[in-house]
Amino acid sequence: MVKAVYPGSFDPITNGHVYIAERAASLFDELVVAILVNLQKKATFTVDERSSMAREALIHLPNVKVKAFDGLLVDFMRQERSRAIIRGLRALSDFEYEFQLAQMNRELAPEIETLFIVTEARYSYLSSSVVKEVFSFGGAIQDMVPPGVYRRLREKFPRF
Ligand code: ADP
Repeated sequence: MVKAVYPGSFDPITNGHVYIAERAASLFDELVVAILVNLQKKATFTVDERSSMAREALIHLPNVKVKAFDGLLVDFMRQERSRAIIRGLRALSDFEYEFQLAQMNRELAPEIETLFIVTEARYSYLSSSVVKEVFSFGGAIQDMVPPGVYRRLREKFPRF
């Protein structure tokens, strides 16, 4: 049984994240989408909200589980007995940060591999922060996020 972990903030999950999860789920027996409880980075949604939105958006993938974690990713990987970290790549601008993160994780846990899945062109501009910004100015984001996320955004920011 080969298990991979797809970590991130998922604040909130977008169709770009769903695409990466679908691709990864088709390659591995099991995929854990790991939602980071990041105490420094101020999140828009609580970890429970982020987890339930992700669970709903990924319900069509039976081998995907959503879990929350805090602390070091490599500790979580060991706890889950997984050696494959999945990250998505959108543009060259992602590369430097992702490369640094992957190198750091290699330093901390040489047995763990970071694997990158390249996004589809139509998701290459999509990020959680852009979705929130566009939404906050009244822009249409229905096609960028799963329906449950759109609903929660409208509940959280009711003026739109
Ligand atoms: P983080 O805060 O760790 O960057 P994110 O939730 O923003 O977490 O992203 C998690 C992972 O998903 C990252 O590897 C990121 O590059 C990737 N990702 C985010 N949006 C997209 C997208 N539209 N297409 C492909 N990968 C994406």
